[in-house]
Amino acid sequence: MAETFIGLAGNPNCGKTTLFNELTGSNGYVGNWPGVTVEKKQAKYRADKDVTFVDLPGIYSLSPYTPEEIVSRDYIVNERPDAIIDLIDVTNLERNLYLATQILEAGRPVVVGLNMCDLLKERGDKVDVAKLSERLGCSAIEVSALHNTNIDALVKAAREAMTPATGTKCFSAEVEEALGKIAEKISGNCAPELVRWYSVKVFERDAEAIKPLNLTSEQNAAIEPLIEAVETARDDDSESIITSDRYDWISETMAECVVKAPKKLTTSEKIDKVVTNRFLGLPIFVLIMFLVYYIAISTVGTAGTDWVNDNLFGDGFFVNGASQEQYEADTETWGENHYADQVAGFVSAAEADGVVTADSAAEVTSAVDALKEDPDDVVSGVIVEDFAAGTAKANVVATDVTITDEDGNPTDETIDSVDTTAFLNAVEGVQSEPAMADYDGYVPSVPIAVEGWLDNIGASPMVKSLVIDGVIGGVGSVLGFIPQMFVLFVLLCFLEDCGYMSRVAFVMDRVFRRFGLSGKSFIPMLISTGCGVPGVLATKTIENEKDRRMTAMLTTMIPCGAKTPIIALVMGVLIGGSDAWWVAPMFYFLGIAAIIISAIMLKKTKPFAGEPTPFVMELPNYHFPTLKSWWLHVWERVSSYIKKAATIIFAASVVVWFLSNFGFANWDGGNGAFGYLPELEGAGDEANNYSLLAIIGGALGFIFAPLGADHWQAVAASISALIAKENLVSTFGTLYGLGEVSENSLSLWTGFAAMFTDASGVLHVGAMLGFVAFNMLDAPCFAAMGTIRRQMDDSKWFWFAIAYQCVFGWIVGMIINQLWELFVLGNFGVWTVIAFACLAAMLFQLFRPTPKFEETKAKILTDLNQA
Ligand code: GDP
Ligand code: MG
Repeated sequence: MAETFIGLAGNPNCGKTTLFNELTGSNGYVGNWPGVTVEKKQAKYRADKDVTFVDLPGIYSLSPYTPEEIVSRDYIVNERPDAIIDLIDVTNLERNLYLATQILEAGRPVVVGLNMCDLLKERGDKVDVAKLSERLGCSAIEVSALHNTNIDALVKAAREAMTPATGTKCFSAEVEEALGKIAEKISGNCAPELVRWYSVKVFERDAEAIKPLNLTSEQNAAIEPLIEAVETARDDDSESIITSDRYDWISETMAECVVKAPKKLTTSEKIDKVVTNRFLGLPIFVLIMFLVYYIAISTVGTAGTDWVNDNLFGDGFFVNGASQEQYEADTETWGENHYADQVAGFVSAAEADGVVTADSAAEVTSAVDALKEDPDDVVSGVIVEDFAAGTAKANVVATDVTITDEDGNPTDETIDSVDTTAFLNAVEGVQSEPAMADYDGYVPSVPIAVEGWLDNIGASPMVKSLVIDGVIGGVGSVLGFIPQMFVLFVLLCFLEDCGYMSRVAFVMDRVFRRFGLSGKSFIPMLISTGCGVPGVLATKTIENEKDRRMTAMLTTMIPCGAKTPIIALVMGVLIGGSDAWWVAPMFYFLGIAAIIISAIMLKKTKPFAGEPTPFVMELPNYHFPTLKSWWLHVWERVSSYIKKAATIIFAASVVVWFLSNFGFANWDGGNGAFGYLPELEGAGDEANNYSLLAIIGGALGFIFAPLGADHWQAVAASISALIAKENLVSTFGTLYGLGEVSENSLSLWTGFAAMFTDASGVLHVGAMLGFVAFNMLDAPCFAAMGTIRRQMDDSKWFWFAIAYQCVFGWIVGMIINQLWELFVLGNFGVWTVIAFACLAAMLFQLFRPTPKFEETKAKILTDLNQA
């Protein structure tokens, strides 16, 4: 059989995408709001690859007022699919039939799917399908897309419906008469099955739609009196006549075919009474989102992320419980001896007694470390022996040696005394630390396994560093956050699928309206919690051009999936020291607040001023999502994150590794040569500070200084985050060697915290929060920026948007940092003054009355028609 195309048309929310996904096994976005499917989407029938389904955007009519209507009409009338399935939400039959009357005129074979018949049964309403089908003049089948009822029968009917539908006889006698005469006059100008369609369009004087007919002026002159006659008779314009006739026919149909059960409040309506309540709606939403982020980032998700970071990317783990217990017990017993503390205490006592110089004390310490790695290291052995000989002679005894905890922090406990014999014992004791690899059932972590493998094949230190620090450090740090992201999406997708989020758009409409945006602007923001790219695309449905622009500009300020690791990183730093459970939800609300504040400020400028358009949206019934669609939804988002890790993040990690490991040996004792830093002459621990990345970051550091984040690492991370937001974390992963196994490598969290800790050890929380705020609010990743560029379709507006995001983010970050410095740490400076000036300017713009701008009438309709 030849290839068959079947279009799926219907009102928004009638279940087209659900049906499409069910039929094709693909995982399109099932959403409860208009505009999720703006572009049409096609895929093959899972039962027969010769059939292709085209999921059209949801529309209420085929008279194009919105981009979705244009897409749908062009497809049906110009591309001529082999058949159309008009999906109707039977629980809203009356409204859905309006579109049906138009589709039936479009000269294509049509079958009507009466969807959501499950809900109809629940309500107890009855539809006489046979009678309805007769009135429509095509077959109608009760289906449920969600529960996969009858949908293959629907497709079968569509494939068998070979003759074009002729349209309903929905117009009154005088209109039908006029249409008949028009049909005679235009029948030579189009295909026979389109005569009815075009007759109606000619009658409506839809100039745009009838362009393809190329009517001559004689034809027009002959037709015009026909229309005018009806208009005079009915005392109305032709377009309204057509509309009202359709509605009359629909009322008749409803009366004939539907028996409604007595109305009672459905469960959904009862729930809505509470969650969309004027006063409770917003607090409930805040509470729910708070819980979502709290659970995902701070509790359940963190446990998963910690496990991944500690085990897969840390020391490795055991698959054998007994070994694990044994190892832990041995480690504990070993730890009670405090060998390392004894060594450290004794060496500093020797130094204090003047037995060794500070330099040779340091030499001894590194010799002890070296012996731990390799007990047969002769040179180190000699250093330790010489040292012991010296201390024995001078009779050095260390007293009251401080005991430290696992993290190296001093405790109150002390060891009474350590003499030379005890010291030598301790040196051996250090070497006897239980090693995980010596126990059964040990699985090495990724970096350890890879390092072992690289050692085996004799890889050079540079290659090892590239693979372990660069790639595993970068990509691994991003992958480590998957558990948190997974939990976040499980919760968010549930809220969307069950129907709650569309209520929120409705609740937010009340809030947004106050400052001149409609609830429609909230939908892109909601989608942006997953990814800014579809979020920006979803702004297409906003009719008002100014609001559309503004929403495209602001929507990416909502934390997307890729930004969650950044939030989690701060959480990791703060959670150790204090109760920082509020941090993760706070960044979500920071995003919303930033959008609202920006919107209020921008609305008071001329390019954005104007009243919001009314927001009309259907609220679908609440229902428990099917596990399959729920999972598909979650997987779609998580998998794109994984894909990104394997591509963009991978590449960026390699670049960051290169830039941070190559540079000029400009340190004391260096010869200024360019090359791989650790191998250049006289390279020390700080060689990274001479890398290309340090040079770039340092040069741009002045921009970030007022944010308290002028470390070159912070600058470099912010820049690479513009490519993909995950890069912020992966850059730290590479720089702080998450992949590095050696014991004194800085972990991601401590490395991050170190950037904001000053010489006296104070952690500048304000600088850290300001830095993160900046990275949340500034220009999004390349992909989202590209989408904004396409959406704006104007480079001036695009650059304005990017500049606004960056400047706004910078100012917010700066204010957070400066206020914290002033109020918590008591530091005052020039930037404190500037911060207050910015704050005052923002408050002024927020609270001053809206200036009067001359009314310029929005010409959206005409613009669209010209497009
Ligand atoms: P679209 O806008 O036409 O693409 O509609 P969607 O496929 O996004 O569906 C809108 C909502 O209706 C979703 O929450 C679906 O889960 C729900 N839905 C779709 N089909 C059915 C059905 O047969 N029964 C019920 N109860 N819900 C359905
Ligand atoms: Mg859809």
